[in-house]
Amino acid sequence: MMTRSEFVKACALFGIGLPFQGAMNACSEDSETPITAGDFDGSVLIVGAGAAGMATGYLLQQLGIDFQIVEADTTYGGRFRTNNEFTDFPIPLGAEWLHVSAEELPAIINDDQITVDTVLLPYSENDTSGYYSNGQLTIEAVGNAVNDDQDKKFIGSSWFDFFDTYIVPSIRNRMQFNTQIATIDYSGSKVIASDAEGQFYEADKIVVTVPLKLLQLGTVNFTPELPTNKQNAIADATVWSGIKIFLKFSEAFYPTFLYFDDSETNEGQRLYYDAAYGQNSADHILGLFSVGKQAEVYQQFSGDALRDYVLNELDEIFEGKASAVFQDILVQNWNDQAFAQAAYLADEAPSSISRRMAESVANKLYFAGCSYTQFADWSSVHTASRSARDAVRELVR
Ligand SMILES: Cc1cc2nc3c(=O)[nH]c(=O)nc-3n(C[C@H](O)[C@H](O)[C@H](O)COP(=O)(O)OP(=O)(O)OC[C@H]3O[C@@H](n4cnc5c(N)ncnc54)[C@H](O)[C@@H]3O)c2cc1C
Repeated sequence: MMTRSEFVKACALFGIGLPFQGAMNACSEDSETPITAGDFDGSVLIVGAGAAGMATGYLLQQLGIDFQIVEADTTYGGRFRTNNEFTDFPIPLGAEWLHVSAEELPAIINDDQITVDTVLLPYSENDTSGYYSNGQLTIEAVGNAVNDDQDKKFIGSSWFDFFDTYIVPSIRNRMQFNTQIATIDYSGSKVIASDAEGQFYEADKIVVTVPLKLLQLGTVNFTPELPTNKQNAIADATVWSGIKIFLKFSEAFYPTFLYFDDSETNEGQRLYYDAAYGQNSADHILGLFSVGKQAEVYQQFSGDALRDYVLNELDEIFEGKASAVFQDILVQNWNDQAFAQAAYLADEAPSSISRRMAESVANKLYFAGCSYTQFADWSSVHTASRSARDAVRELVR
């Protein structure tokens, strides 16, 4: 059985030279059969307004199918929300890179009449890659050949802004916030869900996009219980912890990427990177992306203690420079987010987990989301969006 990391390597990718996960489009199994209306003309309840929930609603809207999106949080976005106050460009608190070809954006929009003007920037082979090991920092040019499928940065925008511009306008009035679904009863001819306040929602079909960690924690109760193979997939899944930290400095003293011996292991990942890369900004922002066990090291701290820990780590590498030019810090600890409580399904998980999670139940209960996919690729916005396309294709049949 292939893990996601093995899949990435099998696709002959750049490994540790650039941000992880990238460039799976070439190996993608996404058939992209056009999404056409079938016989179904009932109603659909979508649980969650992250990438998968919004993409599902948007496609149902295109097909003229009645739907409603219920979201536990105060607004939409889920794990690709941004911060627009820290600096003069959007800071992606979760999803940051497009890991596949730019063709993915029009595929999400699914409308040839709409031109995408989102600006994406791939990395250049002249960018610098630092490696800190045994007390020594080595910096060299990234040097990898740049190809179409390589990780790209959103310039002056973000994954959130892309959805906000192209997807949200046509579904805005179908989204209801502050509505946490607690029970889903699919035993009858209709699906009946209830929220934490005891309100009921009825539909012919339901699409669940609740993050896998929250299913593991039992935050949604299903009647009848989910099939055993799905319950086993939920129980067996390793869901990685996750944190992102952004540091503002008065000057840039760091390479484009900074790696460590433990930057990519079976248990997690971490890397510092120039978060202002390509942005039209005078601010110098260094990002830290960390998931899995590596993230849990940072998550032991918070507030000033976390700031000091990170500055000490950087001072050791850059001979005191970090604390000398430090200005500000922004932390997003995904384990502390009530409606995520983790980052995402581990790259090392067997693909059978996300495949089993993607299977529909009783022609009424569907799963869409970054961990519920038939592809050998998971835990990203493009997989969440592809899973929505698959759920809609199946649902309208
Ligand atoms: C630190 C980090 C870095 C990442 N980097 C990248 C990257 O660079 N590129 C990339 O493509 N992807 C990246 N990802 C992954 C990407 O963010 C996710 O895969 C994607 O956003 C998940 O979309 P989703 O719709 O499946 O889930 P979510 O976005 O989590 O949406 C689920 C929604 O359901 C809501 N919800 C939860 N429980 C309930 C309930 N009971 N009732 C109603 N609503 C509920 C939640 O509030 C949420 O809005 C990153 C993620 C993290 C955490």
